[in-house]
Amino acid sequence: MQRFKWQFQLLMAVLIIFASAVFTGFYIYEINQHRDERTQNSANYINTVYNSVINNMQHTYKYRAYGNLLISGFNEALIAQDREKLYSLIENRYKTMQEENRYLKIMQFHAPDGTSILRVHEKEKYGDNIASKRPLLRRVHAIKEIQSGFEGGIAGVAYRVVVPYFKDNRYIGAVEFGVDVHYISEEIEKISGLKSLFLLHESRIAAASSRSEYNIHKGAYYPIQFESDQYEILKLYTKNNLNYEKKVINYHDHHYEILPIRLKGDDGKEMGIFLCMNDITAGYDDLTRTIVGSVLITCLLIIFFLGINESIARIFMKRVRFQEEYIETILNSQSNIIIVTDDRNIVYVNNAFLEYFHYRTLEDFSKDHDCICDLFQSTESDGYLLPIIDGMRWTEYIMAHSAREHKVKMTVDGKASTFIVTVKRIEYDKELRYVVVFSDITELNELATMDRLTQVTNRFEFDKILEHSLSVSRRYKRPLSVLLLDIDHFKQINDRFGHLVGDAVLKGLSELLRKQIRESDVVARWGGEEFMILLPDTPLPSAIKMAEALRQRIEVNSFETIKSLTCSIGVAEFNPVEEADDLFNRADEKLYAAKKAGRNRIVA
Ligand code: GH3
Ligand code: MG
Ligand code: MG
Repeated sequence: MQRFKWQFQLLMAVLIIFASAVFTGFYIYEINQHRDERTQNSANYINTVYNSVINNMQHTYKYRAYGNLLISGFNEALIAQDREKLYSLIENRYKTMQEENRYLKIMQFHAPDGTSILRVHEKEKYGDNIASKRPLLRRVHAIKEIQSGFEGGIAGVAYRVVVPYFKDNRYIGAVEFGVDVHYISEEIEKISGLKSLFLLHESRIAAASSRSEYNIHKGAYYPIQFESDQYEILKLYTKNNLNYEKKVINYHDHHYEILPIRLKGDDGKEMGIFLCMNDITAGYDDLTRTIVGSVLITCLLIIFFLGINESIARIFMKRVRFQEEYIETILNSQSNIIIVTDDRNIVYVNNAFLEYFHYRTLEDFSKDHDCICDLFQSTESDGYLLPIIDGMRWTEYIMAHSAREHKVKMTVDGKASTFIVTVKRIEYDKELRYVVVFSDITELNELATMDRLTQVTNRFEFDKILEHSLSVSRRYKRPLSVLLLDIDHFKQINDRFGHLVGDAVLKGLSELLRKQIRESDVVARWGGEEFMILLPDTPLPSAIKMAEALRQRIEVNSFETIKSLTCSIGVAEFNPVEEADDLFNRADEKLYAAKKAGRNRIVA
């Protein structure tokens, strides 16, 4: 019961944990799936934003470049590489363009031979062969087409749009616009809400290579125009991740998913990476909350179910206790002694048991007795139960011969009682119990087995005892004899003294006989004034001796009223091949012979 309950509770808890784990796992999978989708969407979105910003810049500065051509004298000044003229023509326009986009920080005119004609943003620096340091410019000079992209220059890294000028299909130089990287980050943030960091590929560092701010080298890419705390983020991102893959970092109690957006230049080669920072702290908290919540709910469910289970068990236990009490009441209301034993020990006794043996508890009884069978009284001849019979424990013996009646004799405080014993075997879950019931039949037994008048065994009982004794005698080849005793001239006693005196004589003689015989011998009233005496383990010569001793004892006895009395005795020894009746007949013949020979004698 207890074990079953424990197993059931464990099973319940395992089931709840399993179900909870499955649901939580599914939910977390869903969250992750959702986050991955969101990330993918963000990446696509940022790509789109980036492309539109870049396109917009390319478009804008292409037309700003063409717009220059409308200024009169511009072409000429460019062809003549007249720096002063060019500056005066373009100065105001540059300022307007900077008002239009405050991140525009470079406007430079290049001669077809690669030299710098004019840096509008830095007028004093000119005439150097800048194209030698700048692949983007070299490309424009070579293919004479608009080129754009991130590239490092003397003034730092910028997104550059270089537009070539032609006069009568002749390449006359180019104009370069440079926009600060922050512009793109800001546009991305404005539209997508995501912060981003820009890393430039080492191949694009170009003229900016000498600048110290790019010396913190992270693999193939360089951080551009970072604020100091952003280096910390970059460090966390690039740790074990120099391939610049998507990664989640934990920074200042926030979780950021960093999405790299790889940029290619017009030449199709790597140009840089935008690291977009997606704050997924809320999602992380969600996950933590989900797991904590799930664990909590699981615990609550387990407590709840175990609680219910416990109450069911309690109701069940109550019921079992009620049934136990019910059974105990029934058992205790019985006058029969009832005990329950396992294979070896008594495990339960009823009140009748304790009352009969005068013990307060079973424990007290067990201190004095190993087994109730310690108290069984028996002689081999009487057929009462012994602790071990035919090599079997008494309980087993009763079970093996359940059709037969089994009697036990016990004496407590000098009072002998006789019981009929029944045994029922109960087996449950490999546990064995014997329920043993002792029904007190002392009175009934006396009525059924004793002769009323003489208080010796009656003929009916004697037959049963004899049957048992004969079988023992046959089996163990042990001698057995009987004496058939008849009072001489009893009729005369009745006639002379009356029937009551005759009865008293019968009683007196019975008492005398009982006293004379051994405990294992049995005296029975065979007929009116005839007694049969069973002598187990007695061969004929000993039986003759006993008969003679009895005869003499009777002869000398002084009976009340009648004073003296004699009797005749027939003696016969049992022959294993004959039946009980044959033995009786032989004893009877001997008795008859004794009578015939003159009475007051024995004949064997
Ligand atoms: P014998 O020596 O040949 O045995 O002579 P007997 O008189 O003893 O033999 P018999 O069988 O003729 O008589 C037996 C008598 O015993 C007859 C009967 O009245 C008497 N008797 C039998 N049962 C009882 C009894 O219970 N009480 C009394 N008082 N007499 C009994
Ligand atoms: Mg007679
Ligand atoms: Mg007689």
